[in-house]
Amino acid sequence: MKTPVIELSDCILCEICLEECPLVFRLNDAGFIEVANLDKYPKEEVNLAIKNCPKDCIYWE
Ligand code: SF4
Repeated sequence: MKTPVIELSDCILCEICLEECPLVFRLNDAGFIEVANLDKYPKEEVNLAIKNCPKDCIYWE
């Protein structure tokens, strides 16, 4: 199964991914975006977040 991954060193915390796909992406207590641990990821919403991330730092692995 593919999982979304964030390249945190490129992330500028614009929070667009949180708006596009709040089920998967969230801001953790340390102030970084993290990916929720799910059995299955909503492909279309994640792809929207990937497409709209201004730093291209979300990808499938
Ligand atoms: S959309 Fe990209 S740059 Fe913006 S918070 Fe999410 S991962 Fe970071």
